[in-house]
Amino acid sequence: MAEDPREKLRRVLRHERRLGCEDGAVFGGLSRFWQHWAAEARQSAAFSHSELERLDALLGSYSRLAPAEREQALATALAILDSPPISPSPGVATRRLSRPEANPCLSSDGSRAARLSPSERSLPSVQGEPPTAESTRQRRPAHPDVLDQPVTFLKGVGPANASHLQKLGVKTIRDLLYLFPHRHLDYRTIKRIKDLADGELETVLGTVWEVKTTRTYSRALDVTTAVIADETGTLEAIWFNRRYLANYLVAGKQVVLSGRVEYYLGRPRLKSPDWELLQREDLVHTGRLVPVYPLTEGLSGRWLRLLIKRAVDSFASQLPDHLPPEVRAEVRLLDLPSAVSQMHFPDSETLLAQARRRLAFDELFTIQLGVMLRRRDWREGPPGPRLVAEPGLLESFVERLPFALTGAQRRVIEEIINDLAGPPPMIRLLQGEVGSGKTVVAAVAMLVALANGYQAVLMAPTEILAEQHFQTLSGLLEATGWQVPTPDGPRPPNVCLLTGSSKRKGDLHDRIAGGQVDIIVGTHALIQEGVKPPRLGLAVVDEQHRFGVEQRAALRQKGYNPHLLVMTATPIPRTLALTLYGDMDLSVIDELPPGRQQVRTHVVRPSQREKAYAFVRQQVQQGHQAFIICPLVEESDKIAARAATAEYERLKTEVFPDLRLGLLHGRLKPAEKDAVMQRFRRGEQQILVATSVVEVGIDVPNATVMLVEGADRFGLAQLHQFRGRVGRGAAQSYCLLLADSPSAEAEERLNVLARTHDGFALAEEDLRLRGPGEFFGTRQSGLPDLKVARLGDAAIVEQVRSAAKRLFERDPHLAQPEHRLLVERLTRAWGAEIHLS
Ligand code: ADP
Ligand code: MG
Repeated sequence: MAEDPREKLRRVLRHERRLGCEDGAVFGGLSRFWQHWAAEARQSAAFSHSELERLDALLGSYSRLAPAEREQALATALAILDSPPISPSPGVATRRLSRPEANPCLSSDGSRAARLSPSERSLPSVQGEPPTAESTRQRRPAHPDVLDQPVTFLKGVGPANASHLQKLGVKTIRDLLYLFPHRHLDYRTIKRIKDLADGELETVLGTVWEVKTTRTYSRALDVTTAVIADETGTLEAIWFNRRYLANYLVAGKQVVLSGRVEYYLGRPRLKSPDWELLQREDLVHTGRLVPVYPLTEGLSGRWLRLLIKRAVDSFASQLPDHLPPEVRAEVRLLDLPSAVSQMHFPDSETLLAQARRRLAFDELFTIQLGVMLRRRDWREGPPGPRLVAEPGLLESFVERLPFALTGAQRRVIEEIINDLAGPPPMIRLLQGEVGSGKTVVAAVAMLVALANGYQAVLMAPTEILAEQHFQTLSGLLEATGWQVPTPDGPRPPNVCLLTGSSKRKGDLHDRIAGGQVDIIVGTHALIQEGVKPPRLGLAVVDEQHRFGVEQRAALRQKGYNPHLLVMTATPIPRTLALTLYGDMDLSVIDELPPGRQQVRTHVVRPSQREKAYAFVRQQVQQGHQAFIICPLVEESDKIAARAATAEYERLKTEVFPDLRLGLLHGRLKPAEKDAVMQRFRRGEQQILVATSVVEVGIDVPNATVMLVEGADRFGLAQLHQFRGRVGRGAAQSYCLLLADSPSAEAEERLNVLARTHDGFALAEEDLRLRGPGEFFGTRQSGLPDLKVARLGDAAIVEQVRSAAKRLFERDPHLAQPEHRLLVERLTRAWGAEIHLS
C-alpha cells in the first residue's frame, strides 16, 4: 500500500527542517515536490480543501523564502499536518491523534474510553460531514476536555507517578504540556568518534559492539561498559548501577550517546552519558536540543522527558489557540500548538526563541487584559463624586507651606485635580522616592475633597506609619492654618487617628458617622472595620502596591465610590508599571526637594568588619542611631527570625555590650513591632538589629548609619530602600554594604548601588538582573503565574499593551464568538477577580 500522503509530507518537512531549511531535503526543491504531492493529495481526499490551501500558501513559494521564514513556514505546515484531519474519507489510513483509541499515549482498554466525556463519546458521528471552508476556519479541537483529564489518563502514569507529578504542579494533561523545561542541552551536532574533544559535551552515533556488566567489590557498584563504534573509531561508555542497560544496548544496535568526553588510556570515554537507541521515531534524549525538566524525587528525568514527548506529540495539536488570529498576525506569533511543541522539543534555537516569545506574550497578555478589565470595572462603575478644586482655596494652603513645592509635585497635583473632577472615579498610582514629598500631594487631594463637603481617609500598612502620617498631616494643616469652607463660614479641619490601639473607638466611630471628622488616618484595616463617614470622597492608600479588587469591592459595598490614590515609595520600572499596574494611571514625582543629602555608600570587605563596627560606635557616640540589617534567609520567617535573634545576641554581648540594642523581625506581633519601632524612634535604643521587615517609609531623622549584612543577597531595589531609612535628618548619613564572599558579579552590583542614587535607574537594573521577584513577586501580588515571560522585556510588554488596546477597541466586552476561548483563558487565570459583562 502506498505511503499515506500526510505521513510522506510530514517526513519530508521534518527532514528539511533537520537539514537547516536550506531547501535541500528533496531533489529539485520543496516547492516543486509540493506541486506533485498536492496533485496526489487532491486525489486521495485525505485533506480538506482549506488545509490544502493553507499548505499551498506556506509551501508553494518555499524555495523563494529567506531561511528564517522557511523555518516558520515549516513549523506551521507541520502543525497543520499534526492537527487531526477534519473529516477523513472512510478507508484512508490517516494518523488520527485525537482519537484516544488510536493514540499511542493511551492505553486501549475500554475502561478509559468510558471515562471520556459525553461529547467525546459522541464524536464519531461528526465523521463523514463534508468539510466546508467555514467549518474548517472555525475548527474546534476534537476533544477540548481531554486536556483537562488527569495525567493518569496517560498510559504508564499510575497513582504513584501522578502524585510525584503533582509535586511539580501537574495534575492534568494540559498542566503537563505547560511544564516547560528550564533549559535545553545542545546535543544536535553528531560528531565522529575520532573528532571528539576532551572535556566537551558531545554527541555520537554508533553501533554497539559489546556490553558487559561487572561489579566492583571495593565500592559495591555495578559497572556497565559498552563499546561503541562508528566508521572512524571506538569509544567506551560506562554507567554505574544501571545493570538493566545491557537489555537495551544489544550488540549490533545503533545508539546515540550524549555526554562529557574524557580520554582514558588514549581512548575517548563517556561516563554516564544520555543514551538512546536509534529507531524510526524522533530522537528524544539525544541528537537534538534536549529539554531538561525540573525534577522531583521519584521521577527520573528520562521517564518524564519521554512522557512529555508523547504528550506533546499527541495533544499539543489539540490545544485550542485562544489568541484571536488577528492578534497573532499583528504581532507575528507562532500558533499555540507549535509554540508548545517547540518549547519542549525545539527544532532549532530560532524556533525555541519564537516559542518563548509566543508563550511569554500569552502570559503578559492575560495579565494585561485582566488589569484592563479591572480598571474598566472601576472606571465604568458608579461615578465618583465631582470634586472641584477652587484655585484660590488651594493657593491659600500651598502659599503658606514652609517650603515651595517642587515642579514634580505641582505637575502631579495637577494630574490628580483633573481626575477628581470626575465623573469616572480616579484610580491613580503615585510613585515617588522616599522623601520626595508625597504626603503633601495627598494632603492637597484630601483638601479638595473637604472643600467639596466630602471626607477623606488615609491608610497606611502599619500603625506606626499611620501615626507618622497623622503627625505630618496635622503639622501641615497647622502650619498653613487652612480652613474648610462651609455654608456657615470657614472652620479648621478635623483629623483623627484611628488604629487598633486607639482608645474609645466607639466614640470615634460615632463622630465619624456623624460627619464630624474630615480626615481619618489609620491602617489598611480601616475599610474592613465599621468606619462609616457619611460622604467619603477620596481614599488614599500608602504602600499597598496593589490596592486590590477585594478592597475596592469592600468600598463599593459600603456604598462608596471614592476616588483612589495609591502611593508608593518603591520605584517601579516602567515595564512593570505598564503591565502589573496597568489598571491605574501613573503619576511620578521624579524630583527631590532641594538640598537633600546623598547617603554615602561604601562596599565593605569582610576583613574590614571591625572597622565598620567601630564606625557605627563612633556615630552612636556622637548621639546618632544605626540600623543593622541581617542577611536574607530564604527558608522561612521563622528561620529568619532565629538567625536575626542570634545575630542580635552576638552583637549585644560581644560587639556592643555597652550600647542599647533593639531587635525587629517578622515573627513579632504587630503591636510588638510597633513598640520596638517606637522605642527606636524615641532614641531609647541606639542600634536597631532588623531583618528585611524594617518598614518602608519609617522616618527616624536621627539615624545616620545603615549597615547591611550579606548585602549581596538583596536586590538593588531593596538595598536602595534600606538606604532610604537614613539621610532623613541634617547630619551626613552612611550606608555600609557588607558581603562575605561576593561573586565578582555581586560585587559589581553593589558598586552600582554605591555610585547610583536614582531609585528608578536601580529598579530597572534590578529588574534586568534579577527579574521581577524583587518587586513583591507576582505570586504575592495575586497575579497569574509567570513561567516564561520576563517582565523586564520592554519590547514584548509594549506589544502586549498595544495589542490589548486594539483588541478592546474592536471588541470592548470580548463578546464576539471568536474571543470565547480568550475569555475562557482569562477566567482560568484570574478566576472571579475579573468581571466580563
Ligand atoms: P515621602 O514621599 O517619603 O512620603 P514626605 O511626604 O514624608 O515624603 O516628605 C518628606 C519631608 O519633606 C517632609 O518633612 C516634608 O514636609 C518635606 N517636603 C515635602 N515637600 C517638600 C518641598 N517641596 N520642599 C522641601 N521639603 C519638602
Ligand atoms: Mg511617606
